[in-house]
Amino acid sequence: MGSGGLIVMDETDCVVDIAKFYLDFTVDESCGKCAPCRIGGRKLLNYLKKITAGRGTEQDIADMQAICDAMNKASLCGLGQTASNPVRSTLRYFMDEYMEHIRDKKCRAGKCSRLIQYKIDAAKCRGCTMCAKKCPAGAISGELKQPHVIDQSKCVKCGACEATCKFGAISHA
Ligand code: SF4
Ligand code: SF4
Ligand code: SF4
Repeated sequence: MGSGGLIVMDETDCVVDIAKFYLDFTVDESCGKCAPCRIGGRKLLNYLKKITAGRGTEQDIADMQAICDAMNKASLCGLGQTASNPVRSTLRYFMDEYMEHIRDKKCRAGKCSRLIQYKIDAAKCRGCTMCAKKCPAGAISGELKQPHVIDQSKCVKCGACEATCKFGAISHA
C-alpha cells in the first residue's frame, strides 16, 4: 500500500480474511513503544481471528470500531495511526459480510475454512464408503450402497471427502 500499489479482489476473496491479513502484518511491524498500537493492533487481530473462526459476536463489531478510533487518535506514529484502516474500511463498506460471518456462520467467499460446511447429496451418493474411509475425524457414516451423511459436529473441514468422491456427491458451501 505504501508503494502506491493497487490490489484488485473479486468475490472469491473474503474481506474479513483480507483485514486479518493486513492486521497480521502491522502487528508484526509494530515496534511496541506505544500502547494504542501495541495492544490495539493485537486486540483487533484477535477479534478478526475470532470472527473468521465463527465465534464472533455483534458486540465485537462495536469493540473493534472503538479500538480503531483509539489507535487512529492516540498512536505515536503513522504505522499505528493507519494500522486499523483495513478494519475501518471493510467495516464501512462490507458490514454485510462481517454480519454473515457472525450471524449466519457463513463465509460467502469460502475462504474461512472453519465456516465451510461439507455436504453429501443423497441423490448422487452411491454408498461406495470411500469418503468414510478417508475421513480423519470419523465424521461420515452410512451403510454400503446407501447414502452417507456427515456429522457436522465432528467434521474438521479437511476436504478429504470431497477430493475422494468419484461421483461428485460431496460439495462445500
Ligand atoms: S504507533 Fe509507531 S511508535 Fe507506536 S508502537 Fe506502533 S510503530 Fe511503535
Ligand atoms: S465417496 Fe461419494 S459416493 Fe461414495 S459414499 Fe462417499 S459420498 Fe457416497
Ligand atoms: S471435510 Fe474432512 S473431516 Fe469433514 S467430513 Fe470430509 S473428510 Fe471428514
